[in-house]
Amino acid sequence: MTPYQTLLQHYRTLVDLRAAASVLRWDQQTQMPPGGAAGRARQLATLSRMEHELHTSETTARLLEAARDAADPASDEARAVAVLQEDYDRATRFPAAFVAELTQLVAMSHGIWAKARAESDFSQFAPVLAQLVAKMQQAAEYMGYDEHPYDGLLKRYERGMTTADVTRIFDGHRARLVALVDTLSRQPQVDDSFLHQPFDRDKQRAFALDIVQKFGFDMSRGVQAVSVHPFCTSFGVNDVRITTRFYDDFLNPALFGMMHEAGHAMYEQGSAQELDGTPLAGGTSLGVHESQSRLWENIVGRSAGFWSWALPQLQQTFPQLARVSLEAFVKGINKVQRSFIRVEADEATYNLHIMLRFDLEKDILTGKIRVQDLPKEWNGRFEEYLGITPPDDAQGVLQDVHWSSGLMGYFPTYALGNLLSVQYYNAALAAHPSIPDDIAQGKFDTLLDWLRVNIHQHGRKYTAAELTQRITGGDIDSTPYMDYLERKFKSIYGL
Ligand code: ZN
Repeated sequence: MTPYQTLLQHYRTLVDLRAAASVLRWDQQTQMPPGGAAGRARQLATLSRMEHELHTSETTARLLEAARDAADPASDEARAVAVLQEDYDRATRFPAAFVAELTQLVAMSHGIWAKARAESDFSQFAPVLAQLVAKMQQAAEYMGYDEHPYDGLLKRYERGMTTADVTRIFDGHRARLVALVDTLSRQPQVDDSFLHQPFDRDKQRAFALDIVQKFGFDMSRGVQAVSVHPFCTSFGVNDVRITTRFYDDFLNPALFGMMHEAGHAMYEQGSAQELDGTPLAGGTSLGVHESQSRLWENIVGRSAGFWSWALPQLQQTFPQLARVSLEAFVKGINKVQRSFIRVEADEATYNLHIMLRFDLEKDILTGKIRVQDLPKEWNGRFEEYLGITPPDDAQGVLQDVHWSSGLMGYFPTYALGNLLSVQYYNAALAAHPSIPDDIAQGKFDTLLDWLRVNIHQHGRKYTAAELTQRITGGDIDSTPYMDYLERKFKSIYGL
């Protein structure tokens, strides 16, 4: 065996421990009775401790060094070893005591945040949030950074991306986005009442599953189940799971939610088979991952072409929609509305919600904003970006789970995913101009094959920036996204 093969064999145990933990988490969200909670927390802690010990062991360090010394610097092997070295460096940066304290703090925070949100009272959450912020400041120091402490947090989720990059990208499209949302919100109200009526759950599931399988979600290597918060998880290239949340009287969450999660899942299923069982399989960054989910959910799933093919089938499944025209349907599913909750935001307003969180996280990390001033700062920016003011903390600063989970530096990846989705789709279109016609005939393999070859098969081999450079010849850029949004919504709204 070569040193590289020995290294991968060593990692197999690590990958298996991670997969076992993922199975336990999947079960926790989809099947586990409430009584299982304490036992499950212990089992997950055990697996995570074993994984961490193995990952940060002397053996890993020695095998990494041997593989690095043996690899031709220009080879794929050297690139893979560098990715694993980066993982290793990251895992060894945090002292065990810090990890334990943070884990405990997060476990305690979740309940406090949930109660504060339920009672819409930020003051209950503020003291523990202040402790979490202190931990995040420490985490940034452990991770290390050149310019801004936020860099230290950001790179945990988006390799190779800096705070300055995100600032430049967000500044580059904020004004145009605010102006677009302003124009659209002055148009006559869109009627989407037909989406809010009783829809049988089994039929919702059957229809959405049929669509995502036609997209290319492979159910011989995948499963769909129900959970409160939809997610995608992977136990390997050949076993990728998605979940869905159903409403009895609203069609969108299950239908578009399933397209979204299937977009993530097809990325996971698309890693080259030789990467299976190695830490090099799967998505290269959260931003690129989100580009895949957004591409299928929005660019394909909310397009007029797609529904020219799919609407007759949906109407057959739900005869109550028989009298809704294609034009009215497409307008309804693309309704732009200024609203308070990020997860319910439409394509046009979404990135503004993210910019607000990015601004606040940056300033809270440096101490420029104090924790107790967050509601005021939140509401002020909300008014500035979205033109409305949250009526209470539950619909404002308390809405997201991320901070209570110790996740700071994560939000920008959602917005980057939106931008990348259009850049990648445009590249696919340039290579295969027939894609829109194919989609309008229910044919998705031209698009999926392009994504497989250019993105999926590489797994974690390239960073988001490298991948984008290879595909577009340039950097992550907001202009294609803004062009897409303006073209799409001006057409839908007849402007
Ligand atoms: Zn997603």
